[in-house]
Amino acid sequence: MIPIEIQKKIKDLREELNQANHEYYIKENSSLTDFEYDEKFKELLTLENEYPDSIVEESPTQRIGSNLSIQFNTVEHNIPMLSLSNVFDLNELKDWIKKTSKTVDQDIFPLVCELKIDGLAVSVKFQNKLLNQASTRGNGTIGEDITNNVKTIRSIPLKINDSKNIEARGEIYFPISKFNQYNESRELAGLNSYSNPRNASSGSVRQLDPNETSKRPINIFFYNLFDEQGKEIVDSHYKSLEILEKLGLRIEKNSKQIHNFEELENYILFWSKNRAKLDYGTDGIVIKIDDINIQKNLGTTGRNPRWATSYKFPPEIVETKLNKINFNVGRTGVLTPWAELEPIMIDGVKISRATLHNRDEIERKDIRENDLVELQRAGEVIPQIIKVSNKNLRNNKSKKFEFPDYCPEPCNSKLLSDQNEVSVRCVSSSCPNKFERLLQYFSSKKCMDIEGLGSKICSILYKEGFINTLDEIYILEQKRKQLMQLEGFGERSVNKLLANIEESKNKSFNNLLTAFGIEGVGEEISDLIAERIKSLDILYEKKNNLHNLEDLLIDIEGIGPIVANKIIEWMKQEGNIFLIENFINLGIGTKNRNVTNQSNSLNYKTFVITGRFENYNRSTLENMIKNNGGKVINRVSSNTDYLLQGENPGTKLSEAKNNSIAIINLSEFLQMISTKERNFS
Ligand SMILES: [Zn+2]
Repeated sequence: MIPIEIQKKIKDLREELNQANHEYYIKENSSLTDFEYDEKFKELLTLENEYPDSIVEESPTQRIGSNLSIQFNTVEHNIPMLSLSNVFDLNELKDWIKKTSKTVDQDIFPLVCELKIDGLAVSVKFQNKLLNQASTRGNGTIGEDITNNVKTIRSIPLKINDSKNIEARGEIYFPISKFNQYNESRELAGLNSYSNPRNASSGSVRQLDPNETSKRPINIFFYNLFDEQGKEIVDSHYKSLEILEKLGLRIEKNSKQIHNFEELENYILFWSKNRAKLDYGTDGIVIKIDDINIQKNLGTTGRNPRWATSYKFPPEIVETKLNKINFNVGRTGVLTPWAELEPIMIDGVKISRATLHNRDEIERKDIRENDLVELQRAGEVIPQIIKVSNKNLRNNKSKKFEFPDYCPEPCNSKLLSDQNEVSVRCVSSSCPNKFERLLQYFSSKKCMDIEGLGSKICSILYKEGFINTLDEIYILEQKRKQLMQLEGFGERSVNKLLANIEESKNKSFNNLLTAFGIEGVGEEISDLIAERIKSLDILYEKKNNLHNLEDLLIDIEGIGPIVANKIIEWMKQEGNIFLIENFINLGIGTKNRNVTNQSNSLNYKTFVITGRFENYNRSTLENMIKNNGGKVINRVSSNTDYLLQGENPGTKLSEAKNNSIAIINLSEFLQMISTKERNFS
């Protein structure tokens, strides 16, 4: 039994905290300072720990779920979460209004305009006043259960003051003002940065651990309200927004009821100009018919409602100065030019470099150093230079950019153009630029997986002369003392690095073969080769009969003459044979992959992976597939069984659709292998 005065204390604390949350997140000012809030929160937590029976679902302490969910369960939506048709200019919008009015044979005004928030669409259900389920849009019909994560968003009440069961739909977003700072902190922690606020919002919500979500500054705007059957509650969309607000569900305040085309035009023009001032990304304006009865008459086309459309803002184009053209030398020697820019914001993201693709691109667009250029984000990710700005002024010092003839310092070898003339590469086998890249690649996860040997350390160890050939990584142990004298290398970090290097000796032949960085020989090809040629010693023996080796390689299904030839060319180089000898002497790569199948549940099925997965990196997924008896390939073909789709899928998605290949998401995949993988690396 909980003493009455404790019960009252708990109740008061909850009310105060909930009130403060509401004020802070909805009204954007608060009765409590952060410090006071934290103190009261701790007090409540202590009392609840002491009297666990007092814990109720709507308590502010329950926002931070402590249960780790291994995967997301799926949720079927009552009514599908549809996407909207698009119009791209005012004429198209006029046509849409005309056509729609004609269909229902009446004036469709008033319309309701809302800013289209660039985030993650979600559905949140309240039952008996309590938030009881939240899910992602998913494929529109089936989404992922993200209830515990959504509960951590402090602007969402866990309890509403209405006993009707409701479903509210909205968009979770990542505030632009927090985005760059957040990305910087991720980079400092050695994590991948998000390419834009939308990915950050989606990534934050789809964390497997709600505690992680609770650390992210995400927020939400609601824009739809239904009863539990998925029916509208009132006959006007605009009124439903007012009800949402009364329920304490945050709405975007700039939505407006519009009575004629002139008003509509003004609204669009105003926000086209002013959207950059908002703290959330918008990519357009949603235009909905206000009258729910007209909405019902119009119905849907299956994928889109006929009673709404979205006016898309043209992509944001910015101008900035191109300070310098630099080059990356890849592992295989290909030079990729990139532009060093005067830093500029596009859609909330600070951009200071852009790719220039290749020599042709620079020539075609006549891009020069010190030019003013127009920039746009291509596919929301890679910033691209569209053209030299019309406002660009060149002085008489400006000259056409000359692609270099020699590899950048310290290599300085003569560069060669490929036959197709598009790429230019350094073919020197002793190119330091290439070697630095190769070293990074060698230690990367899918190769020898040496933690602590990242790009910076590789660069230092190479430049300071500690490592000149790949096998010298394994004699670093002998230089332990000298290593510790390097700046930034303490005893602990050196010990750790050396231990990781030692550990990597256990990697099997296929990993080592990938790690050699032979052009065209990635993980997949290395696996195929290692199935036939079981270890490095056996490969070494073939050095005296390269014809035989070539035939053997071509004979392997999945390896063509081009790749076989690259391997033969690599084997012909004396330096590489030395390298193999040294690795054999070190006892590395002399055993074949030790396949420890966890199951055979994937039964030789073939998978292609596309997109990003928040908590699983590519090699983890690949290992999971391989360890369960499946196969991973890089390209979609008619032989592919499944496309495993993550966020921002590439062209592989449409290829899979064209080939009618089964497309699965991460939770479906995890269900297939139904193991309790907990490898969140
Ligand atoms: Zn070079």
